[in-house]
Amino acid sequence: MHWPLIAEQIAAASGEPFSPSAPRSVGGGCINSAYQLADGERAYFVKINQGETLAMFEAEAAGLAELAAAAGPRVPRPLCTGTAGSQAFIVMEWIDLGRQRGDSAAEAGRQLARLHECTREDFGWDRDNTIGSTAQPNTPRADWVSFWREQRLGFQLKLAARQGYGGRLRERGTRLLEVLPALLDHDPAPSLLHGDLWGGNIGYDDQGAPVIFDPAVYFGDREADLAMTELFGGFGGDFYAAYREAWPLSPGYGTRKALYNLYHILNHLNLFGRGYLSQAEALIERLLAEARG
Ligand code: ADP
Repeated sequence: MHWPLIAEQIAAASGEPFSPSAPRSVGGGCINSAYQLADGERAYFVKINQGETLAMFEAEAAGLAELAAAAGPRVPRPLCTGTAGSQAFIVMEWIDLGRQRGDSAAEAGRQLARLHECTREDFGWDRDNTIGSTAQPNTPRADWVSFWREQRLGFQLKLAARQGYGGRLRERGTRLLEVLPALLDHDPAPSLLHGDLWGGNIGYDDQGAPVIFDPAVYFGDREADLAMTELFGGFGGDFYAAYREAWPLSPGYGTRKALYNLYHILNHLNLFGRGYLSQAEALIERLLAEARG
């Protein structure tokens, strides 16, 4: 690891000298090596990976900046990205993650609704990014159905076919893409989304205030963020009650939840393998049945 080179780039980006002591390794991530890098006064959170992941870190920094500019939950402020030797890195504000207070989960629900109130004209984003380590295309589209069809489900189904999960998954998946208009007829607004909001990507600062990190930002149906919170659980009833009080959901969310989480299940199939195949196929069958009414 080229820590002196990283420290130099931190000093240049912050405009202040930075002579850190030895980095401290941080666990809990899925994709990258993570560290705390600190001198007596300032502390940063640094993620490191192979050099070719620079674009991934640049997109993460842009996503954090986009979220930070909205009135939603706290996010770590990004400082810089770069390369050092054969490695790429991202540096952001260090936040001491602690424990929830009594009202932390409700606060997270309210603040997520506020984040989702940040909307724009088109679905997508100014740049592509990644979901886990998989590419996530974000070419702007005015129509949500085509966006979800081409850039979310269709894209993952193609990746799956390339990895050998063709056959039935492909055939039934293609059928699902054809009937999407019947499942997505609720006319959502393009809301700013975290994009990868599972329980491992939310924490609470030392005041108990929610912090979201490691995003896969784009503008999309807010229900896609909520669906992801339910995929692996951990958010609790107070969170959902507060969200719905701030911004009630439209009828039919239960079906769309499955459709939105199918994207993440397909991504898990592509990242982690065959263990997710039967779950993906079962979800597709359920959605096809719902579309037939
Ligand atoms: P990965 O990209 O490898 O999945 P994450 O961004 O999820 O890594 O970060 C790994 C862990 O580091 C998180 O689960 C969280 O506990 C902690 N963490 C993330 N961001 C910060 C931060 N800004 N300050 C302190 N700890 C953080």
